[in-house]
Amino acid sequence: MAEFSLSFEFFPPKTEEGRARLAAVRDRLARLRPAFFSITYGAGGSTRAHTRDLVLEFHRAGHPVAPHLSFGGDDEEAVRELLATYRQAGVRHLVALRGDLPSGMGPRRLVHANELVARVRAWFGDHFHIKVAAYPEIHPEAEGYRRDVHWLAEKFRAGADCALTQYFYNADAYFYFLDECARAGIERPIYPGIMPIANYASLVRFSEKCGAEIPRWLRWRLADFGDDEAGLFAFGVEVVSRLCERLRAGGAPGFHFYTLNRAEASLAILGNLGLA
Ligand code: FAD
Repeated sequence: MAEFSLSFEFFPPKTEEGRARLAAVRDRLARLRPAFFSITYGAGGSTRAHTRDLVLEFHRAGHPVAPHLSFGGDDEEAVRELLATYRQAGVRHLVALRGDLPSGMGPRRLVHANELVARVRAWFGDHFHIKVAAYPEIHPEAEGYRRDVHWLAEKFRAGADCALTQYFYNADAYFYFLDECARAGIERPIYPGIMPIANYASLVRFSEKCGAEIPRWLRWRLADFGDDEAGLFAFGVEVVSRLCERLRAGGAPGFHFYTLNRAEASLAILGNLGLA
């Protein structure tokens, strides 16, 4: 059986100071020997240079790193060039996404993730280990539950190796999703995305946008903490640790942590599980 694997997601900081802080976070998390760190990519290529530079910096420092790449409405040549840069540097991982258009860009046909995966395989063969996004609570634009699972299966048919999920706080959503994926013929690993709870207001805002559900009881309990950041942190760690315990006991192949560029919560949760 494959080893239980960990990965940690970061976004590219905009300042030198932010980058130095992130290097310290990365070094703390690197002690857990993650399968990879991943670096997000702004909608419409808005962080293209920041993402690329950070990915290459991680790679030079000897860390396995997965650039996110959302095709969105980008120029095909620019996407191919960026991938060629990664290949030449020796980067082996990739998170392939459709992405969303930044607001104000008007209607445009977005290149779907299965189409991006097919292009990456046609251009670069087996060089990249390709990860794609999956949505146990279903993507906000999905035409239906089974249609969304169908499109995930298409990403695998195009050559994806594994999937990382959107975060969720309901373990049953993940387990049911795995069953539906198996029914659709998907046999590759689907790693649950884990979002530690650090800030109530931003979690609510972001969850509404990306279609992740915060269960009613949890929302009410989190709201009780008000300005008590330490209380919220401790409670968040407890809730997410329990979720992770259930996921692990139920057969999750690993965890992909949305770190928001911080180490404390991920380390506390993994410590509770005996994994840190
Ligand atoms: P797709 O797989 O293309 O799916 C999008 C929608 O279209 C779904 O509703 C699906 O059912 C449907 N669909 C899929 N394929 C087809 C098709 N061929 N024809 C018709 N309909 C189709 N966003 C960023 O901007 N930057 C990031 O770095 C980033 N990282 C992420 C990492 C993870 C692990 C996850 C889960 C999400 C991430 N996102 C990121 C968000 C993601 O870009 C959005 O959720 C986006 O709306 C969908 O991207 P996708 O790759 O899942 O798209």
